[in-house]
Amino acid sequence: MWEVVVVGSVNADLVIGVDRRPAPGETVLGSDLVVHPGGKGANQAVAAARLGGRTGIVGRVGDDGHGRLLRDALAADGVDLAHLATTSGPSGVALITVGPDGDNSIIVSPGANARLTPADVAAARDMIAGAAVVSFQLEVPLPAVQAAARTAAAAGGRVVLNLSPPAPVPTDLLALCDPLVVNEHEAAYLLGGGEPGEPAALAGALLKRGPRSVVVTLGADGVLVADASGTAHVPSPKVEAVDTTGAGDAFTAALCLRLARGDGLSDAAAYAARAGAAAVRRPGAQPSYPTPAELP
Ligand code: ATP
Repeated sequence: MWEVVVVGSVNADLVIGVDRRPAPGETVLGSDLVVHPGGKGANQAVAAARLGGRTGIVGRVGDDGHGRLLRDALAADGVDLAHLATTSGPSGVALITVGPDGDNSIIVSPGANARLTPADVAAARDMIAGAAVVSFQLEVPLPAVQAAARTAAAAGGRVVLNLSPPAPVPTDLLALCDPLVVNEHEAAYLLGGGEPGEPAALAGALLKRGPRSVVVTLGADGVLVADASGTAHVPSPKVEAVDTTGAGDAFTAALCLRLARGDGLSDAAAYAARAGAAAVRRPGAQPSYPTPAELP
């Protein structure tokens, strides 16, 4: 019934531009506050829905003004909200200051996202088991991710995990991933830290950790895909990058959608690279996500 179901975070991004950040005990003036809908889960759900996918989300928002704004943003793109629960207390928030060079400093307050539980996953069983592809990131508690991944896999769905933010992943969860999606830094983290090495070697080393397949995103350089049949490089279209925020989420959502529609991994990655490239041509995360007609 659903092509893509996202189990993940929903945040309000509160953004203020500053000339410099305050030292402890100091106050500085910043620009007007801008509030954007965000969170990796919501970003991916919006990106998949805007590309035409029948999409649902499993998550939690708070019973505050941000929660209403976040719900409205997802509804505007047609995401199924039957399993977006409302928790008493604040929604997840990312406090973002943007410096004069466009550099971000971010504090995330997980809020309602931290209250997503295996019981929520059990309540959403029909949606998770009814999805062709279920997409996960790590901004909600791991027990909920594990429970949902097991439910999806048991029902014959495909599990896609984006290791963001980087955190330890149990071996049994890694074994369900088809693919595990990482950028070079997340890949290096999973392999024990240190500087990212040669991407092809990274992809091979990641596969040995147990996922069924691996996708390493390389920004403007495109993507590496790896599975038991080998490793391939998929280029990204050349575009003028304005703001790369949320490109990874647009990429992962488009990948999930094409896998749900039966593409092989390389074809799905080629389509997803077009969605990632489209997302860097406009500022912001969700506002930058393309419709099919806007793909380069
Ligand atoms: P983020 O954390 O900023 O959301 P990420 O590090 O997870 O991103 P990236 O590798 O930066 O992910 O981007 C995902 C995909 O989007 C890339 O593999 C590529 O296909 C596309 N992409 C990103 N940046 C560019 C760019 N400057 N030009 C063309 N395509 C890009």
